[in-house]
Amino acid sequence: MNNNAFDCAIIGGGLAGLTLAIQLADMGRAVVLFEKEKYPFNKVCGEYISMESHAFLQRLGIDLSGAPYITELKVSAPNGNSILRKLDMGGFGISRYTLDSQLAQLAIKKGVVLFENTKVNDVVREADSFTVKTTTQNYSAKIVCGAFGKRSSVEKSLGRAKPQHKGRKNYVAVKYHVKATLPANRIELHNFENGYCGISKVDGDKYCLCYLTDSENLAKSGNSIKAMEQNIVMKNPFLKKYFTESEFLYQEPLTISQVSFSKKSAIENGVIMLGDAAGTIAPLCGNGMSMAMHASFIAASLINNFINGTISREELYTLYEKQWNKNFAQRIKTGASLQQLFGKNYLTNISIGMLKVLPLLADKLISMTHGEVF
Ligand SMILES: Cc1cc2nc3c(=O)[nH]c(=O)nc-3n(C[C@H](O)[C@H](O)[C@H](O)COP(=O)(O)OP(=O)(O)OC[C@H]3O[C@@H](n4cnc5c(N)ncnc54)[C@H](O)[C@@H]3O)c2cc1C
Repeated sequence: MNNNAFDCAIIGGGLAGLTLAIQLADMGRAVVLFEKEKYPFNKVCGEYISMESHAFLQRLGIDLSGAPYITELKVSAPNGNSILRKLDMGGFGISRYTLDSQLAQLAIKKGVVLFENTKVNDVVREADSFTVKTTTQNYSAKIVCGAFGKRSSVEKSLGRAKPQHKGRKNYVAVKYHVKATLPANRIELHNFENGYCGISKVDGDKYCLCYLTDSENLAKSGNSIKAMEQNIVMKNPFLKKYFTESEFLYQEPLTISQVSFSKKSAIENGVIMLGDAAGTIAPLCGNGMSMAMHASFIAASLINNFINGTISREELYTLYEKQWNKNFAQRIKTGASLQQLFGKNYLTNISIGMLKVLPLLADKLISMTHGEVF
């Protein structure tokens, strides 16, 4: 294929990028997708997907028969006080190793030109097209979508300002796959000083154990993850049990640092942003993946309308931004408030105690983090 022939170029092959590519290919569009890693690969993520995207993934052609349904939530405070609630909508568990690689195979089958091990370094906007510069070659496309996740070096070339960390917290995230003893239909969220840890079942005979913590906790522990787990994380009695009694399937954890939740925009220099690249929701809401896929659902039909000539470029940008804000802006704000509530020992202990006597408030908070089926 001629390098100038693409309708849409997508930067990043996570859930937002891959699902967008598949939908556009289904609509008959010429799509190129660049992913800097090689599938299959593990990702730091809690791997609980809210039910809102279950039917969507099945419609695309993904087999979810091996993904357990999750129907209840247990939350504990650092002092071990806990509540257990049924989840109205609930979710399912599947590892990113499995899901992303299944989506990548499906994309290729549908005709997406997928370059793995290919990093995008720069995007140049011209009159009515873009040039995407990768480590090996340049490609031209009518539309470019940024689906590169929380943070990427390519943001600089899009003119996006570096996130301001002054006064804002920076987070570290750690993930393991383990064999543990807890009901397969339950997700548990256990708080500890300046952090929280989720555990829930995924495909195969394993659980995902993943936590997010203030980077100060790591600094206080001499930058040793083991010491931080020993001295801070395991102070929560539930976490002590999981860390000491589970079988860890890989000893070295997967980690990411410099996670920030600063505000971003849905369009940047004409590039359409999806998933975490447009705005990152606090992981304790367990919804970032569904939001990434939902954004791709919104973007796919609008991009298709633009390529058809039904809407102009300006209309495409305005409509996408409007729909993005309508669907996700409030959820991201709610997530940020919940993250504040569950960050501090004292506040979390009080909040869990309060939610225990006001279970309907707990249900309301949970429902505010979940969206609609799409
Ligand atoms: C600790 C933690 C736990 C979480 N737990 C959950 C959970 O349980 N449930 C949930 O729904 N959400 C969870 N999330 C959020 C969820 O992981 C994200 O919202 C989701 O992965 C966003 O998908 P995405 O496609 O936008 O980005 P990603 O999945 O991050 O994909 C981006 C892709 O772009 C690639 N890339 C980046 N830069 C370039 C470049 N320049 N060129 C080419 N490729 C590039 C990356 O390699 C990556 O594969 C969690 C997040 C964290 C940090």
